[in-house]
Amino acid sequence: MKKIGLFGGTFDPLHFGHLNLAVRLSEMHKLDQVLFCPVNHSPFKTKPPSVTNEHRIQMTRLGLEGMPRFQLCTIEMERGGVSYTVDTLRALKAQLESVELYLLLSAESIPSFHQWKEADEIVHLARPIIGTRGERIQEIPESPVQEALQQGLSPTPIMEISSTEIRERLSKKLYCSHLVPTIILDYIQSHNLY
Ligand code: ATP
Repeated sequence: MKKIGLFGGTFDPLHFGHLNLAVRLSEMHKLDQVLFCPVNHSPFKTKPPSVTNEHRIQMTRLGLEGMPRFQLCTIEMERGGVSYTVDTLRALKAQLESVELYLLLSAESIPSFHQWKEADEIVHLARPIIGTRGERIQEIPESPVQEALQQGLSPTPIMEISSTEIRERLSKKLYCSHLVPTIILDYIQSHNLY
């Protein structure tokens, strides 16, 4: 069975931290494909993204060029409204039929994951795999999804990069080529973003 990973995010913009996580987790768990799915409205973030959905789609598409196992997935933007992972996984399961689904997460998600909409159903639909720095594995809150999260802990190098830092650096015209693929920086510059 094909192993497909879902990697959701705001991708405002996509950066090397995202790509690094996806490469490491897909190697470790031998995934055939990772779907990068830009969120429409995140249930967690209070502020909307800084740029339009179209720009986030284009930047994500560009950042994945030349990485055949990584693909853009626009299902959440097409669906509109608040993007719940459980709905996305259900839709993927129906579309893709006999595949094994994985959900790519970072350690940041561990403390609140059990409060995500239908968290128990999420881990039933997809195996969570969580990039964590080996020496700093966090405590996982007690809940019906605790065991699934525990089993998904995947010690891997993590790059200290966030889209917030990138947006700040771009607004100050600071160098960002070590944080974001050049092809995305070119897009940002030509569309005057951030
Ligand atoms: P922002 O700074 O705007 O909150 P972000 O850099 O956290 O953005 P998102 O698009 O919100 O990026 O992240 C999507 C997913 O990728 C989230 O699960 C997030 O925890 C994870 N992630 C973000 N940055 C990194 C990184 N440097 N290494 C590993 N995972 C990351």
